[in-house]
Amino acid sequence: MTALIVEDDRNIRRSVCTSLETSGWTVHEAETLRQALAHVRSNKFDLAIVDLGLPDGDGVDLIASIREESQVPIIVLSARSEEQHKVRALDAGADDYVEKPFRVAEFLARVRAHMRRQRDGGKEEQQTFALVGNVEFDRGARAVRKDGKDVRLTKTQYKLFDFLVTNAGRVLTHRQLLREVWGPGRVEHTQYLRVFMASLRQKLEDDPAQPKLIITETGVGYRLMAASDSASEFGEAA
Ligand code: CA
Repeated sequence: MTALIVEDDRNIRRSVCTSLETSGWTVHEAETLRQALAHVRSNKFDLAIVDLGLPDGDGVDLIASIREESQVPIIVLSARSEEQHKVRALDAGADDYVEKPFRVAEFLARVRAHMRRQRDGGKEEQQTFALVGNVEFDRGARAVRKDGKDVRLTKTQYKLFDFLVTNAGRVLTHRQLLREVWGPGRVEHTQYLRVFMASLRQKLEDDPAQPKLIITETGVGYRLMAASDSASEFGEAA
């Protein structure tokens, strides 16, 4: 498996490279947008790690170029303060972001989760049944069960949950969720989303005030915990 890392900070680039190489990856490095674009045009890779602030341009442009060619997982490296950048990166097709500074073990866990998702992606499309924590999603029967008991969702709640389940483990932006569930005319109406997320949590979370299933990504959107993002996997990063 081959990864492309695009990052101008030498220390971060080296640490990502080393951790991926230790896990068996072949890694190609780029320091600038220009180098990265040249690489994208002439090489194949299975994963891209992209810093947003590059010396000669914006990593979001690179993400858009990668997405024209392929569906490989793209993980963004971003500073905590770059909320709008993260949103633009996700809207452009990135799958996830990791805030700097990050722990290598957590970074690798994210990489594994996305590679697994990529590998199983084709199957999941067809899959009619999913289990997220103690919640069962039965697409065939249009049924949702919590601890084995039926949960009645409204049409919109169901549509929203269906989209979250299809993208489990992935950060979805407000705009992506609104476009999918309410249509392109409503992408600015984040208050709908807040209300419906609260109502979904009320029905599905053990403690809606401390959600463990539907996670808020502050200023960005929401993420449904994937079945594979188990506490043990992220726990080992501690
Ligand atoms: Ca940078």
